[in-house]
Parts: sequence; C-alpha cells; structure tokens
Amino acid sequence: MISIIVPCYNEEASIEIFLKEIRRVETGMQERYNESFEYIFVDDGSTDGTLEILKRSGVRYISFSRNFGKEAGLYAGLRAAKGDYAAVMDVDLQDPPELLIRMYEYVRSGEYDCAAAKRSTRKGEPPVRSFFAKCFYKLINKISDTEIVDGARDFRLMSRSMVDAIVSLEEYNRFSKGLFSWVGFRTRWIEYENVERAAGETKWSFWKLFKYSLDGIMAFSVAPLAVASVLGVLMCIASMIFICVIIAKTLIFGDPVAGYPSLVCVILLLSGMQMFFTGVIGQYLAKTYLETKRRPIYIVRESNI
Ligand code: UDP
Ligand code: MG
Repeated sequence: MISIIVPCYNEEASIEIFLKEIRRVETGMQERYNESFEYIFVDDGSTDGTLEILKRSGVRYISFSRNFGKEAGLYAGLRAAKGDYAAVMDVDLQDPPELLIRMYEYVRSGEYDCAAAKRSTRKGEPPVRSFFAKCFYKLINKISDTEIVDGARDFRLMSRSMVDAIVSLEEYNRFSKGLFSWVGFRTRWIEYENVERAAGETKWSFWKLFKYSLDGIMAFSVAPLAVASVLGVLMCIASMIFICVIIAKTLIFGDPVAGYPSLVCVILLLSGMQMFFTGVIGQYLAKTYLETKRRPIYIVRESNI
C-alpha cells in the first residue's frame, strides 16, 4: 500500500479535481502493480469548505485546530501513514500525479529509497522571486553541510525506512527540504516542467517565503553566528592599521585634532554591526527557546484515523 499525504489549506477549489486525477493514477497502478493508495488529507486549519469536502469524499483526514503550516501538515500525515511507501504532494496539481508511477518504480526496484520531483525551470514565476530563490539556494548550500536542492518540490515518494527516519525527527522548527536531505538515503531526482496551479491561489507571499528561507538557514546552519567573529577579527586588524597610520601622520605632519565626521561614521558602523549580530544571536536563541518548550508540532481538532 502507498500512503498519499496531502496538506490542504483553504483548498476547496482543488480537492475534487485532485482526487479525480489521482484516482486515475491509482487505477492504473492497481492493474499494473496491485498497489492501492491510502489517502491522508491534512486540513491545516482551513477557514473555507475544505473539511466538509474531505468528509464528503470518504478519504482519511486529520483536521488541525488552527493553521500550523505546511511543515506540520506533512509531519502529521507521515506519522499517520501506514503504507509500505509514502508520498507527499500538493493538492493544487502542481505535482503531476502521473509522476508517482515513475517514482514508485524507482523505489520498488530497491535501487533508491526515495524518488523526488524537481522543477527543471522557474518559468511562470515572477523574475524577482526566481532571483531571490537562486540566491537563497546558493547561500544555504555554501554555509550548510546539508544539501538543499534548488528547485526541489515537496513531492516525493519514500520507502518505509525513510518515513520512519523523518518521523523520528521531532524538532519544532521543521524545514522539510532540509530534513529530507539530512536523513540521507539514496534519492533519485526526477525533473519536470513546472505547471501552474489547477485552482485557487498560492499561500506563499514574498514576505512569507523570505521568512521561510531565513528559517531554513537557521535550521541547517550556524554559519551566521560565526560571521560575527570573523568580522570582529577583520575589524580589529583594520583598526590596528588605522592606529599606525594616525600615529605616523601625527609624527610627520603634526596633525591637529580633526576627523569628527569619520569618527561618527565609524561609531555608527560598529554599533550597527553589533546590533545586527546581537539580533542574529537573538534569532538562534529564540529558536532554541521555542524548541525547549517542547510544544506539540500540531494539534488535532478532528480526525477519522
Ligand atoms: N499548505 C498548507 N498549509 C499552509 C500553506 C499551504 O497545508 O499554511 C498546503 C497547500 O494547501 C498546498 C501546499 O501546501 O497543498 C502548497 O501550497 P501552495 O500551492 O500555496 O504553495 P506553492 O505551490 O505556491 O509553493
Ligand atoms: Mg502550489
């Protein structure tokens, strides 16, 4: 059996189209491989008719008490999954269900533990967003030991052992793209052309994506903390040189007191940088603080599992 995990947040327009498409794939797979699907829909605190549609559709669902975010939805779904394989995918049909067949073939052969989809282009996306996305992937891959693949979608099919590994990571700040990579296992990447959403609207504003990328960096790298030390050393060296220059100048030219503007600039620069890095430390501290509370990652209001 293959568990299909689908997080939904205000997706009343997409669910039925999605179910129609994926049931077609299921029929094909039943005939060819005798595998059936177990659907687990996670209603992430939707405020529209999502839950009613789920109840009507006769699928398994978990409904959260409020919006906990897609990462929490994925986690809840993976925990509930009972299949020998589990696939996570979006409900908006941006993840073509037909790809499941190829993914399944790769994983079933035993050669791979996981098959994941990756978009080959960023077509159909605002150029500014593509630009920042590219920068983000470059940066995070430089400063993190965990590889975060550019263009990777949260669409993948995994073996049981990989699902168990993911579920065993109980951290509160979940950055799935990193977690999937951190647990290791052999992953086969399948490239495909990006498709537009079937219905409804994306839940990701630019600001939300920006914050998400910062979360990703903080979850998988401590490099920002080290930057302060490096900069501190560089500044000390610079100030030594500056001191020597001033002493020399005074001895040679007998320079009178001057340079109030440069003094102000230096003070502003230094205090700005100190504030900035205090902020960086604060961010890490805040994450640590939230982790130590050990609050649940999600709260279920209603479920039929
Ligand atoms: N989603 C969710 N909780 C959220 C935001 C999104 O469960 O807080 C779900 C959403 O219903 C969809 C998937 O995550 O199935 C991807 O969302 P979306 O299509 O808005 O993102 P995009 O494809 O634009 O990256
Ligand atoms: Mg989408």
